[in-house]
Amino acid sequence: LFITFEGPEGAGKTSIIQKLAREMAEEGFPVLLTREPGGIKIAEQIRGVILDCDNTEMDARTEALLYAAARRQHLVERVLPAMKENKIVLCDRFIDSSLAYQGHARGIGVEEVLSINEFATEKQMPSLTIYFDIEPEEGLKRIAANNKREINRLDQEEMDFHHRVKEGYDQVIKKYRERFLMIDASKDFDSVYAQVKGELTGYLKK
Ligand code: C5P
Ligand code: MG
Repeated sequence: LFITFEGPEGAGKTSIIQKLAREMAEEGFPVLLTREPGGIKIAEQIRGVILDCDNTEMDARTEALLYAAARRQHLVERVLPAMKENKIVLCDRFIDSSLAYQGHARGIGVEEVLSINEFATEKQMPSLTIYFDIEPEEGLKRIAANNKREINRLDQEEMDFHHRVKEGYDQVIKKYRERFLMIDASKDFDSVYAQVKGELTGYLKK
């Protein structure tokens, strides 16, 4: 099983999934928690190239290709072998992040980014995607609070970008409705955790 977790910044994905993976492992489920680039050497190096420059320096398509390349290496080295061993792979972000961030928010187009990702993944899609639904303002407020940073220091350009990410996800969710489970991520940690655990437990019983 290949299950991915998606959503905008500050939605709380990472902390929720960590607890989820720990609890599921204690309950005896064969889980593998991972995220791109997942500590895979080649994928880390590719990610390093992306992070080493700012958005204005790197062309959007170059960025999309690099994310797709890192995704492939992580898929081949970590995800597919674990799936072969019948593990439940929980992955923090996957193809939908590229469709929303590079495809829509950076303006390449969702279908264009999908085509390079289909090449990269040989069309391996997640069986289930848990989406952490939150308004961009709320998510960014959480990040600001964690960083003790003033919310008003987020400039308008940054805010616009995050609105486009949200729009991109909305498109992706419409396109792939059947594999998405929606979580109201605006609630407090315990409530979000209970929703995710409940939905996933229900899904695994099917
Ligand atoms: O998973 P996390 O929220 O830590 O992601 C780190 C950052 O990487 C995100 O804030 C996002 O801006 C960026 N990202 C991206 N395109 C992707 C995946 C992540 O721009 N395909
Ligand atoms: Mg995260």
